[in-house]
Amino acid sequence: MKIKRIRAYQVDLPLHEGSYKWSGGKSVTTFDSTVVEIETDAGITGYGEVCPLGPFYLPAYGNGVRAGIIELGQHLLGEDPRQLQKLNRLMDAALKGHAYVKSGIDMACWDILGKATKLPVAELMGGRYGSDVCLYRAISQEAPEAMAQRVAGYRAEGYKRFQLKVGGDPAVDIARIFAVAEQLQPGDRLVADANTGWLMHDAMRVVKAVRDLDVYIEQPCLSYEECLSIRKHTDHPFILDEAIDTIDCLLRAHADQAMDVVNLKISKFGGLTKLKQARDLCVSLGIAMTLEDSWGGDIITAAIAHLAQSTPPELQFSSTDFNSYVSVSIAEGAPKRINGRMSASSAPGLGVQPRMDVLGKPVLDLH
Ligand code: MG
Repeated sequence: MKIKRIRAYQVDLPLHEGSYKWSGGKSVTTFDSTVVEIETDAGITGYGEVCPLGPFYLPAYGNGVRAGIIELGQHLLGEDPRQLQKLNRLMDAALKGHAYVKSGIDMACWDILGKATKLPVAELMGGRYGSDVCLYRAISQEAPEAMAQRVAGYRAEGYKRFQLKVGGDPAVDIARIFAVAEQLQPGDRLVADANTGWLMHDAMRVVKAVRDLDVYIEQPCLSYEECLSIRKHTDHPFILDEAIDTIDCLLRAHADQAMDVVNLKISKFGGLTKLKQARDLCVSLGIAMTLEDSWGGDIITAAIAHLAQSTPPELQFSSTDFNSYVSVSIAEGAPKRINGRMSASSAPGLGVQPRMDVLGKPVLDLH
C-alpha cells in the first residue's frame, strides 16, 4: 500500500461559550484547525487533525501546520502508511522538530492502518479497557465567583473532574481555587492549572495559601526547573504538562520525582505513534496520565478516545471531549459525551467520516 495523495483542509472551530481564557491574559474565540486527508493506492483514505491552542500556547500555529505538510508531503508520497515507526523516522529525517506538523499525518496513517486491518485504533494501540473513559471539564479563566458558578452546569453534564484555569494574579488565583473548591462534592477532583503563568514566588504563595485544600497543582511555572522547585516545596499532588514534550523529559522528570501525573498531548509529542511510546512508558512506571491534545474537533476527540481507552483505567487520570466545547462538527461517528465520559468507536480506524461540506475545498493538494 502506498500514499498516493495528501490533502489538507482548514476549518474554523468557534466555541459554544464564546471564548476560552487562560494564564497571562491569553484567549481564543475561534480555533484554527487543519484536517489531513491521506489517500492510498488501495482505495483506503485516512483522516487526521491538528488544532493548536492559538499561536501563543505551545510553539505551534495553524498556518505552520499547513506549511509543514507542504514541506513534508513530497517525502511521504509513495511510502507505506501502515509502517508507522518507519514513517515517523522518515518524517523526522525530512523535517527536524515541528512535532505538531507531523501529528495529523501520523493520525491519518493510524486511521488507514485500522481501516486496512478492520480494527479500531484503540485495539491496535494495545487493547480496549472498559466501556468508556473519564473526562475533565476545563473552567475558562474568569472572576472567582463566575468560575465557581460554572461548576453546577458542568456537573449536570456529568463531569466530576474540573480543571481550573489559573496562572494570573496570585491573590485572585487563591480566591479562584477556594471559590471552586467550595462547590466540590465527594468524588470530584479539582486541578488548578497555571499553564506556566506564575513566577516562583507567586507559585509559592498560592500553594501555601491552598495547603489544606484537596487540589492538584498543574505546571505552575514556565521551565521544568522552576516547576521542580515548587514541587519540592508543596505536598499537593503535582502535574507537569507544557514542560514534558519528549521521552527524554519524561525520563528526567520520573528520575527527579518531579510529578505524580503527567499531561500528554498528541500534537505536543508529534502524533499517536510517539504518544503511544510515552503512554506505554508511563504505564510501566506507574505514572497516571491526562491523555488529550492542545485542542481539536471531532477527529482529534476520536483519536483521544482511542488513546485513552487503550490505557489501563487506573492510569487514565482524565481526557478531554474537545468536540463538545466547539460549535462546529467536522465529522460523523466521533465520540459523544455521556454522563461525563466518552468511548472510542468500534468501527475500523478512528471511526469517523469527515463532513466534506463543512471542510470545503482543500487548501493544499499533493500528489
Ligand atoms: Mg495543562
